[in-house]
Amino acid sequence: MGSDVIAKLKEMAADPERVWIVGGASYAGLLKQTGRLANVLLSLGLKRGDRLLLQVEKCEAVLSLYLACLRAGVVFLPVNPGYTVAETAHFLSDAEPALAVTDPDRVAGLAALGARVMALPDLLALAEAQGPDFADPAHGPDDLAAILYTSGTTGRSKGVILTRENLSSNAEALVGLWRFTEGDVLLHALPVFHTHGLFVATNCVLYSGASMIFHRAFQPAAVLEALPGVTVMMGVPTFYTRLLADPGLTGAVCGQVRLFISGSAPLSPATHAEWRERTGHAILERYGMTETNMITSNPYQGERRAGTVGMPLPGVAVRITGPEGPLPQGEAGAIEVRGPNVFQGYWRLPEKTAEEFRDGWFVTGDMGAFDAEGYLSILGRAKDLVITGGLNVYPAEVEAALDDLPGVAASAVIGVPHPDFGEAVVACLVAAPGAGLEEAAVREALRERLAAFKIPKRVLVLEELPRNAMGKVQKAELRRENAGLFAGG
Ligand code: AMP
Repeated sequence: MGSDVIAKLKEMAADPERVWIVGGASYAGLLKQTGRLANVLLSLGLKRGDRLLLQVEKCEAVLSLYLACLRAGVVFLPVNPGYTVAETAHFLSDAEPALAVTDPDRVAGLAALGARVMALPDLLALAEAQGPDFADPAHGPDDLAAILYTSGTTGRSKGVILTRENLSSNAEALVGLWRFTEGDVLLHALPVFHTHGLFVATNCVLYSGASMIFHRAFQPAAVLEALPGVTVMMGVPTFYTRLLADPGLTGAVCGQVRLFISGSAPLSPATHAEWRERTGHAILERYGMTETNMITSNPYQGERRAGTVGMPLPGVAVRITGPEGPLPQGEAGAIEVRGPNVFQGYWRLPEKTAEEFRDGWFVTGDMGAFDAEGYLSILGRAKDLVITGGLNVYPAEVEAALDDLPGVAASAVIGVPHPDFGEAVVACLVAAPGAGLEEAAVREALRERLAAFKIPKRVLVLEELPRNAMGKVQKAELRRENAGLFAGG
């Protein structure tokens, strides 16, 4: 069992010199601020198990509130500030938070939905009037820590219930695996409403007593300016492609960096290779999801195999199954996970929760296969699998072939209804700057690499791919837009 997040915070805060945010709070200051905030939450009548919804632009106070909630036993519920008021209504009615905290310009909108709302600056002002000491109640590893809503690209967004142990066990595994120490300085440019920026990044820092450089948004120029003082960067693949597009990215600016980590969406082998050539660093790719925290990681020492997400974390079990059960090594199937990292279920959706567990294993919804050395490859979401003329096509395989072609900057492969084949493979491409892509030439070039049934029936060249805040391609949107592509035969 991992040491509780708040126990770690107190341990780190015992050293008055230890820096939490470079140019900002120390750990000792952070502990005091979380004490003040926890006192405010109690003074406002929040009780253990109540939910606190937080929907604000990225700022340091999000991290303080996350920790204050853990101290008070209040369930932390961060929401993407990009959601409109109408979209936020679902989280308010579903989670019934005792308090919603938001930016001043959103207070009226959320209040109109019937929520008890407070502006973040007002909450922080109340905290100033409180003492920093807080009498922490005892917490158990199975107590609720947070609810994070899934991005819900194909249906209603679901609340993922995470316990304190889900967070602590994953933090300890990652700190060990990625060799975090108090000497590390992490560049934090990720959103803080999502598991990647909120838990993976923040808890790795907290559990090692490291420091972070905190950027409120990802700006390539600002990142390049900060990099010389950084030892670890965590990013989504678009961070890496956007930095590569900047001539300011050189081996020299990465001189102090010991580790670049990527996750939340597939990193193309082409980007991995280009990054290595330009900076000398092999990006370490890992795989996880909101429901499971981190599941697998490429090794710190040893080969970081491009196009794979590495091996299961210590204490985490992964299996590949078909409709009849576990499959032999090497075969492609559904990825299932078990371990202390796996969530407790979807908030107020017991049936949905039961559907997604099989014999105690969580069915991730991703397809994958292990190679002979134990590296896992993600082949795409099960619902993105294309079945054309009765044959399975894994989008990731076709995307990898497309990404290798000269002039292709990004690709997404989808299935589109087709009168003869049921579904047809369709490729959506973005051209590299200055490159022209020709449908017939792309299809021809794939013939050497792929069986005929995997070759896209159509190749569409787009200005850009629709992506969410984490850089994930929104395939449901591409499918919707192209649903009529083969209509009328
Ligand atoms: P989320 O819950 O928003 O973090 O999304 C989790 C999903 O992102 C996973 O189920 C995967 O489909 C995808 N994902 C995360 N990391 C990777 C990765 N390294 N490669 C491919 N897909 C990934």
